[in-house]
Amino acid sequence: MRLFKKRPYISLQKTQGQNGPQVPDGMFEKCPNCQKPIYVKALGKARRCPNCQYTFRISAQERLTITVDPKSFKEWDTEVTTLNPLDFPDYENKIAKIQIKTGLREAVMTGEARISGHDTAIGIMDSNFIMGSMGQAVGEKITRLFEKAAEKELPVVLFTASGGARMQEGIFSLMQMAKTSSAIKRFSDKGLFYLTILTDPTTGGVTASFAMEGDIILAEPGALVGFAGKRVIEQTIKASLPDDFQLAETVMKNGFIDQIVEREKLKPVIASLIDMHSCSIGKEGGQHE
Ligand SMILES: [Zn+2]
Repeated sequence: MRLFKKRPYISLQKTQGQNGPQVPDGMFEKCPNCQKPIYVKALGKARRCPNCQYTFRISAQERLTITVDPKSFKEWDTEVTTLNPLDFPDYENKIAKIQIKTGLREAVMTGEARISGHDTAIGIMDSNFIMGSMGQAVGEKITRLFEKAAEKELPVVLFTASGGARMQEGIFSLMQMAKTSSAIKRFSDKGLFYLTILTDPTTGGVTASFAMEGDIILAEPGALVGFAGKRVIEQTIKASLPDDFQLAETVMKNGFIDQIVEREKLKPVIASLIDMHSCSIGKEGGQHE
């Protein structure tokens, strides 16, 4: 009978207690790609797996820290939050909880910052906030980002990360695709530069609108970039798809991405692209001679 009794000395509580191995929280993280436990410090600032080079997902705040010049960020439109247009049950509660958990007001953070000395309007989406989904608030913040950037004649750098439309806002989510796209058109008509960086994952309505409307489109290695999910497509066409389907590398081969840039090299690449564009405006006419 003793065989079937719970053995307390191997229970979880015991190993985490005084007699078990003492591993401080957050010291190791499991790599989602190679499944190995990785010493967090070994991931470095760019948060790449030293074993398989997998690029970990990072928060908007972490992205901001590695992208902009210190203390140069001024956040815009922090008051914009969702109004629960469909009265979706428990939605406000869910938003309030996720705001506390992430420290963000919505799934995108927008503002003005300097990148290697260049004044820039910047937007960073965060997949920790309801999968970076786009509802009214995200659409409004992205739209205002382009409107303010057009007014101030700043280039826009936008990091995308999204599961697509915010289901709780139904048709109001889908309308954001047209709204953001028309703001980008007005911005673009002023001859200003828009750079998108697709990060893991960029899908659905975000891919089908502002993510793919950049003058230059970069992506991080291994990022999932697509519209409909792989399983949905497989069920529709009744065939299996290759393993590299919707990987940034494959999407680039098919002509939708200009370049894949490793996270460590992103800041200098962004800065040089902004630099090139500001030169071409300044020397208009004699540029191509
Ligand atoms: Zn790994």
